[in-house]
Amino acid sequence: MIAFTANCLYTPLECVEQPLLLVEDRVIVECGSRTSRPIPHDARVVDFGDGILAPGFVDIHIHGGAGQDVMQADSSGLAAVEQLLFKHGVTSYFPTTVTAPLDQTWSALDRLANAIESASRDDDSRTDRAQPLGIHLEGPFLSHVRRGVHPPEDLLLPTLPTFDRFWQAARGHIRFMTIAPELEGAREVIADAARRGVCVSLGHSDADLNSTRAAVAAGARHATHTFNAMRPLDHRAPGIIGEVLTDSRLSADIVVDGIHLDPAIVELFLKAKGPDAAVLITDAMSATGMPDGRYRLGTIEVEVKDGRCLADGKLAGSVLTLDRAVRNVMQFAHWDLQQALRLATLNPARVAGLANRGKLEAGAEADFVVLSPRGEVRNTIIRGELTEAASRHRG
Ligand SMILES: [Zn+2]
Repeated sequence: MIAFTANCLYTPLECVEQPLLLVEDRVIVECGSRTSRPIPHDARVVDFGDGILAPGFVDIHIHGGAGQDVMQADSSGLAAVEQLLFKHGVTSYFPTTVTAPLDQTWSALDRLANAIESASRDDDSRTDRAQPLGIHLEGPFLSHVRRGVHPPEDLLLPTLPTFDRFWQAARGHIRFMTIAPELEGAREVIADAARRGVCVSLGHSDADLNSTRAAVAAGARHATHTFNAMRPLDHRAPGIIGEVLTDSRLSADIVVDGIHLDPAIVELFLKAKGPDAAVLITDAMSATGMPDGRYRLGTIEVEVKDGRCLADGKLAGSVLTLDRAVRNVMQFAHWDLQQALRLATLNPARVAGLANRGKLEAGAEADFVVLSPRGEVRNTIIRGELTEAASRHRG
């Protein structure tokens, strides 16, 4: 048994001073305060000093990093992405596709399904990298008008057989699908995907209020990078954004890199969705963690300069990391660290339907981060395993 302690711990709903986190066999067996319970004699004690313990981050929308794109990466490429995520406090992630020719998408889904299955098999050797838990299918069921950089020639109208073909290629590992609800056939596919346990997320859409509401009735329950690649909010024609901001049944995510949204819009969004339904994503692409230059996002060539990823003058993902997004929320919206953390831990875990992640409590996976009081990642711990890298940075 290992007893982890630090200055405080965010579950994240509660703040525990002088925490005591007991871990055995990769699982949290107890989460409380050492003021109310002595440290067990047989436990190995790891003290993180003035650090803050919080759940590991969960990124539900990420295309790559460390020079690797998840549409093309082989297993060593994905390992590089996962090690980069680990350094930024991410312990679970959902590799995200971009619209591409069908055969390329099918082979990417097959490769990602392999990665997900092998990651869940060899737990013990994977303590320095984030774990892929499912796939986010972004495209091809997107609006031509709001496609962003998704290649127009590969966009498709949603049909049950097309979706089923993706589902088969991914061997059932699709956990998120971004879809434009106004497309012909969308409602049927939304209902079918929701039945299979997919979190259907509305995005890359030019929908009006009514077709957005119909999609929610069909089973959609989330929104993808709200404001970006969406029909803009109009006070007489509120459209998709009007529905996303006001329907409390919908959770929604945003990219808080200071580029995708003005800080005032971040504040507006957070006021509308609140600490329960707002989610942070990175939408990070292969250039993340790399110098400026030319990179790929699926089949799209992207020029990265000063943190801005552009293809044909349009934003093509980001080089954001989730720890940075949390700190940006603190800066832009004046939220405290505990509240901001929820948007990268508990909320995305809930949206993804993960019962044992995104929170620190007995029975949950021992995936957590050690943060400085300002929210910088000092250590990431996966399944309670203190890696050599984590030990080096300790204290
Ligand atoms: Zn994306």
